[in-house]
Amino acid sequence: MRKDHSPPPPESGSSVSPDRPWFTRRSTLVVGVAALAPACLAGWVLTQVMTGAGPDEQQPRPAPLPASHSALSPGQRDAKPGATPSQSPSTSPTAAASTPAAAAPAKGSLTGRTVVIDPGHNTGNFKHTDEINQQVDIGTNRKECDTTGTTTNSGYMEAEFTLDVSQRLRAALEAQGAKVVLTHQADRPWGPCITERARIGNEANADAVVSVHADGVSAGSRGFHIILPAKVKSGAADTAKIVGPSRELGERIAGNFARTTGSAPANYLGGGTGLVVRDDLGGLNLSTRPKVFIECGNMRDAKDAAQMTSPEWRQKAAQGIADGIVGFLGG
Ligand code: ZN
Repeated sequence: MRKDHSPPPPESGSSVSPDRPWFTRRSTLVVGVAALAPACLAGWVLTQVMTGAGPDEQQPRPAPLPASHSALSPGQRDAKPGATPSQSPSTSPTAAASTPAAAAPAKGSLTGRTVVIDPGHNTGNFKHTDEINQQVDIGTNRKECDTTGTTTNSGYMEAEFTLDVSQRLRAALEAQGAKVVLTHQADRPWGPCITERARIGNEANADAVVSVHADGVSAGSRGFHIILPAKVKSGAADTAKIVGPSRELGERIAGNFARTTGSAPANYLGGGTGLVVRDDLGGLNLSTRPKVFIECGNMRDAKDAAQMTSPEWRQKAAQGIADGIVGFLGG
């Protein structure tokens, strides 16, 4: 449901650095790459890596794409405006392993890493309103333990969607050797509370945490966005150490999610960057590990809903998130 994590406070929008639109920089990069003959690509990429030259020179890295992303898939290319070029399915993690600068690494690259996945909401929350409405302390203020989440107009629940994508994401990450922990998996009648969701990531010493959601706003509002933690310090909330790495994680996921799904950044917030900074989410405020939320689309928009109710699209969504995590973790 929108009230828990959808409306960014006015000040948050300004926290998204307007000088770092990841897709614009990607677009520039892709144009440069596309201008080169394929035979020159590997050498060019190596040069970029060795010298730090090019559009990535100024930190932070803007959701880097694999070197092989010049191999655009015509079908996917059409799915996005020019700012979000696609990548061929052939540039999967294993296919890209021969290029050192590829964002997606060889299989097993996450061995020894821990990723916590938080499927937003719970399909049982509707039946446990007293429990989920109890107030919990998120450091900066008090808030409901959890919310019901939204649904498509045909009744497909956000909590069903988030769990399905999370399970697909788990499989993709485990295939890379990661240890994966889900905050819940339909094994409890409601919740967990947002405080517990954060605690699970912290106690697992997760190298990355992703909370999976879908938005529920007016029809016509489309696209995905990543929610990044604001810098907050109040009570149990202290995000100073995770703001930087969480942004990098979010940028990586945004770039890869756009590539695998063909979705564009949200057209209704974030200024078209697909990135929003929020200071009102307990799941972010209480995290001590790099963490982002992803709102995969708008369930109340018929076109976005048609995608999210498709198992094939959900697999692409999970793969994009997984590729972003792999890139962030240095694969
Ligand atoms: Zn949600």
